[in-house]
Amino acid sequence: MKSEISSRLPDIGTSIFTVMSKMALEHGAINLSQGFPDFPIDPKLIQLVSKAMAEGHNQYAPMPGHPALKKKIADLVQKTYQRATDPDSEVLITAGGTQAIFSTVSAFIQAGDEVIIFDPSYDCYDPAVRLNGGVPVHINLLPPDFSIPWDEVRSKINSRTKAIMINTPHNPCGSVLSDADMKKLSSIANEFDLLVFSDEVYERIIFDGQTHNSVLKYPGLSTRSVAVFSFGKTFHATGWKIGYTVAPVHLTTEIRKAHQFITFSVNTPMQVALAEYLDDHSHILSLAKFYQARRDFFLEQIKGCSFKPLPCSGSYFQLLSYEATSRESDWTMAERLTKEFKVASIPVSVFYKDQSDH
Ligand code: PMP
Repeated sequence: MKSEISSRLPDIGTSIFTVMSKMALEHGAINLSQGFPDFPIDPKLIQLVSKAMAEGHNQYAPMPGHPALKKKIADLVQKTYQRATDPDSEVLITAGGTQAIFSTVSAFIQAGDEVIIFDPSYDCYDPAVRLNGGVPVHINLLPPDFSIPWDEVRSKINSRTKAIMINTPHNPCGSVLSDADMKKLSSIANEFDLLVFSDEVYERIIFDGQTHNSVLKYPGLSTRSVAVFSFGKTFHATGWKIGYTVAPVHLTTEIRKAHQFITFSVNTPMQVALAEYLDDHSHILSLAKFYQARRDFFLEQIKGCSFKPLPCSGSYFQLLSYEATSRESDWTMAERLTKEFKVASIPVSVFYKDQSDH
């Protein structure tokens, strides 16, 4: 072995979620810093997993996913986004959204390829691009609405640009991309022949009667996009780590090649159980209302305090501005809130490459 290991991700340390959760525990604070539900999953789903195991569905699933689950996903995509989807060639079951994103990036990004990423960005995008030799090109989204500056996007595109990564509904901003955004994206992606990696894990958590604008709804986008979804988010089962991609056959074929050697296949009993559970769409269809009530409850509870909530149209995150009361950095504020006021949160600057906290 060479005496010194040269890290491929020298800037990556302990995740902010671990740091804040540890601090919350040490100071007896309410922990609002971890993005996962604290209520149980549907007992019926647990029964279906047990049944699948008892019935012997315990060996490797086919590499791209269990046929029954792929079929149910294709039906769901057709019903939700009116996009005809071939379950055999356009769906891939993955170990959650994270592995879907990593496999997608690994399939398409080569040394020197640039990928446009909007900050604040979910923490796995940038490392996935760099581990594959690509170059992340970060563009800042700004409060209060975190809308995409399309002219700036255009100005950052060059002959090395290979893909644009989007996330709607957005973690952590709670913003959603509008129909006009998707049309802009479509025109830019087509003009410059770009791929679109679309993280849509919060597709079902969208508020105030809005509809989710998936890349799958736009014919000009769906032919050049990979849409990423997560059952963990939709069924309150983040620990299950199961999700999927939907993409046209020529893209899915390539993603499967990477997936085959990253994880090969995803656990069988949960795939069998989810396939049966998806006979009934009532949970999925009730999710937006369920989470909206929680958002509204939270907003009601913090009414009257000096924090100003920023608009939140989806996802399970809520940003608060403290510009009326303090100029301290968001790190200092998050630390003080945890230690003095016993509420742990996340400083948003960690999701900006330039660490700005606006
Ligand atoms: N994308 C976003 C925006 C997320 O918030 C998360 C989970 N926090 C993921 C992807 C990863 O999803 P999974 O847990 O299914 O890997």
